[in-house]
Amino acid sequence: MKSLLFLFSALVMMNAGCTQPRPGAPVESPLAAKIKRFAPTELTGDVSRLSPGDRLALQKLIEAARIMDRIYIRQVWSGNETLLRRLQVDTTAAGREALELFMIEMGPWSSLDNDSAFVDGAPVKPPQANYYPADMTKEEMEAWVRGLPEKEKKKAVGFFWTIRRGADGKLMMVPYSREYRDLLIPAAALLREAAGLTDNPTLKKFLVLRAEAFAKDDYYESDVAWMDLDSPIDVTIGPYETYMDELFNYKAAFESFVTLRNDEESRNLQRFSAYLQEIEDHLPIAKEFRNPRLGGMAPIRVVDQVYRSGEASGGVQTAAFNLPNDEKVIKEKGSKRVMLKNVQQAKFQNVLVPIARIAVDTTQQPLIAFEPFFTHILAHELMHGLGPHNIMVGGRKTTVRQEMKDLYSAIEEAKADIAGLFALQYLIDKGVVDKATEEQMYVTFLAGVFRSVRFGINEAHGKGMALQFNYLLDEGAFVYIPSTGRFSVDVEKMKEVVRKLTGEIMTLQANGNYAGVQTMFDRYANIRPEMRKVLDRLMHVPVDIHPRFPLAGE
Ligand code: ZN
Repeated sequence: MKSLLFLFSALVMMNAGCTQPRPGAPVESPLAAKIKRFAPTELTGDVSRLSPGDRLALQKLIEAARIMDRIYIRQVWSGNETLLRRLQVDTTAAGREALELFMIEMGPWSSLDNDSAFVDGAPVKPPQANYYPADMTKEEMEAWVRGLPEKEKKKAVGFFWTIRRGADGKLMMVPYSREYRDLLIPAAALLREAAGLTDNPTLKKFLVLRAEAFAKDDYYESDVAWMDLDSPIDVTIGPYETYMDELFNYKAAFESFVTLRNDEESRNLQRFSAYLQEIEDHLPIAKEFRNPRLGGMAPIRVVDQVYRSGEASGGVQTAAFNLPNDEKVIKEKGSKRVMLKNVQQAKFQNVLVPIARIAVDTTQQPLIAFEPFFTHILAHELMHGLGPHNIMVGGRKTTVRQEMKDLYSAIEEAKADIAGLFALQYLIDKGVVDKATEEQMYVTFLAGVFRSVRFGINEAHGKGMALQFNYLLDEGAFVYIPSTGRFSVDVEKMKEVVRKLTGEIMTLQANGNYAGVQTMFDRYANIRPEMRKVLDRLMHVPVDIHPRFPLAGE
């Protein structure tokens, strides 16, 4: 699953068409304005540490990944491939712009504008994508599935079978291995070639098994091999997420992430992990709410992306994901979180830095820095594992998730953010994390609030951020400067208030206090006029990046 922040991008309230042209300046077309919201960026990684065999394998993997683009374009909509061919031969200026935006979005719909079509003749984005017949209703599918034998039923609602209409007009299923045969056969061949070139046994194993999976529509063994992958080249390739199936969320879209392991960050992560129990033991909550023995944590991998394709190409770029989605694999092997460090860095440079220039007091702007930003993202992920989870309410065994119901995601995200700051301050005070990053961490966090809230406060991350922002403001840790309309951080105050808010949120969670959390959101999770003014001034800051990959010859 992808980070929610990037899925709710459609909620971004942006109006890119409102540019007032300077007198004499060429008038910008609406498509050009949409394209400009994605800042062009180069993404690459350090291949010098790869063995000669791995370097060759990497090229084969990039070639295989390119094929995922072609499968995905076919999956989006039955008319997508034909439309793409039409745009490719259109030499008009408007045609070239349409092609550029098509390649950013991987289809004719603008993800930042509620999926509205930007190419003439494109229909409304089909909720069934190209997974089901265009004329099929939900009811027809449900009735047909009910009538199937148990084994067939599983496939019909499974990840890897499209639903088509047979010559008799009745529904039937087609396995992905047949539906995408023309593309999966060459993709599998490239994975086998790469397997022959790499000297890493875990990568070899994954690639051979994944090539087999393409032919037999059974991804279990290769998903297990992916969980065990321990290789300088870290690759994720195949059918994964089901978001595009808006009818049922059954069918998986093809994508790939071709990445290189970031050894330095992996060591950093290990270093923090060694202190997790100690941080839990010092959480600012009553002793009985602390967990005396933290369980095992889901593994986190930090990598640099050198290529990506398929669903991962379209729209707002994925910066972190959790896979696999197959419940059977998750039950047996857990899931793995992959963080794409250079993608985060590109978003930081192209989106967060320009936001900071508008939102943060000028004297504190030099403190905006990527390393503390990324370290806080890692701390956020780790802190999801700390604090109350299994709780007792009125003598009843329950969980925070069950008690918080619809408020769970937003309060859990707020907890991970604020407790992430608490944990890093703890490590700074202990001398584990460099004291020089203290001010940077807090000021960069302030700028980050605006990045999240920009995606809307109906979504968990934005709502949680708005809560923290207003709480910190009311307590004097963030300070509004009326003369400039910007905000600054009172670092000493911040340390104290971060501790207080961490304690308050975790105590509400520990008590399963739904009403208390609701009251807190009502009071703080809103956009006040001062923040609104800053958000309005962010109109022309890019929303995301559009990467180019030099290692793929781009
Ligand atoms: Zn989170």
